[in-house]
Amino acid sequence: MDMVQPLTWADALAAKAAGPDLLPIAGGTDVMVELNFDRRRPAGLLDLTRVEDLRRWAVADGTVELGAGVTYAQVIADLGDVLPGLAMASRTVGSPQIRNRGTVGGNLGSASPAGDAHPPLLAAGAVVEIESVRGRRTIPVHDFFTGVKRSVLAPDELIRSVQVPCATGPEQFSKIGTRNAMVIAVASFGLRVDPSQRRVGTGIGSAAPTPRAAREAESFLVGELEASDSWGSREPLPEPVVREFAELVAGAADPIDDVRGNAAYRRHALAVMARRTLTWAWDEYRQGVLA
Ligand SMILES: Cc1cc2nc3c(=O)[nH]c(=O)nc-3n(C[C@H](O)[C@H](O)[C@H](O)COP(=O)(O)OP(=O)(O)OC[C@H]3O[C@@H](n4cnc5c(N)ncnc54)[C@H](O)[C@@H]3O)c2cc1C
Repeated sequence: MDMVQPLTWADALAAKAAGPDLLPIAGGTDVMVELNFDRRRPAGLLDLTRVEDLRRWAVADGTVELGAGVTYAQVIADLGDVLPGLAMASRTVGSPQIRNRGTVGGNLGSASPAGDAHPPLLAAGAVVEIESVRGRRTIPVHDFFTGVKRSVLAPDELIRSVQVPCATGPEQFSKIGTRNAMVIAVASFGLRVDPSQRRVGTGIGSAAPTPRAAREAESFLVGELEASDSWGSREPLPEPVVREFAELVAGAADPIDDVRGNAAYRRHALAVMARRTLTWAWDEYRQGVLA
């Protein structure tokens, strides 16, 4: 099997244009499983680990530019204060070895409905920066996933970075698995409470063909917060509001029965996670954490 090892981003793009069948490999924690189980036989591998630009992150104008090759370990070590939801999700990924190798770009590249980076990226309203020799385009993460393990990436394109607005208020992430570590989510949920934009962001994982937001739940909650002036007063949320938000989150899912859980359980779990995360996040907001 061919192995192409570019040292620069420009060379990586050129290699992908010349060989669209080359399979990009970053941390390899998904790719190597696929090769080892003979689920995939690519013409060759495009090793992105030597492209330094991909491993960098920077904060500018209230947005984190996260190179596609930034690992979960880096997110946990460096970005917990600006992207607390993504850091929480990163802490639940695999094991220390997987978090040291696995990247956010690789999670997007695999586009699994169960990818743990996806709910916080959805909740934050992140934008994926994609590039090929034909040019660069930015895609809201809400539009990135097109089906189970499918995305908008064209054969000659690579993910360069993800632009994630810094949190201006509390974020939460919750994941149900069959045990506490080294586990794919049975269902997961990410939440951002954004007082600066008076916005609420959500992300559902492992409970639909693609990761997705619970749009109706978001607008319901924003409407309630506006109507009661709770952004300003920071009053406790009435229980019926929390319950309705949770039901709307569960209703936004489109889960299946599989070996990890059945659809009814996934919906129930989502409602529980939505209720808990909203309660935690709103309590943080009331106590003045971050905002
Ligand atoms: C034991 C184990 C436990 C795991 N636990 C979890 C877990 O708890 N949660 C979770 O979400 N995942 C988990 N995973 C899956 C995996 O670790 C993650 O999906 C990880 O984010 C993949 O990143 P990577 O850098 O290793 O990607 P790779 O395996 O290198 O690549 C993954 C996919 O993305 C593509 N790709 C990579 N970089 C780019 C790029 N820049 N542009 C375009 N395409 C690209 C590759 O071609 C491939 O299709 C686990 C895997 C293992 C083996």
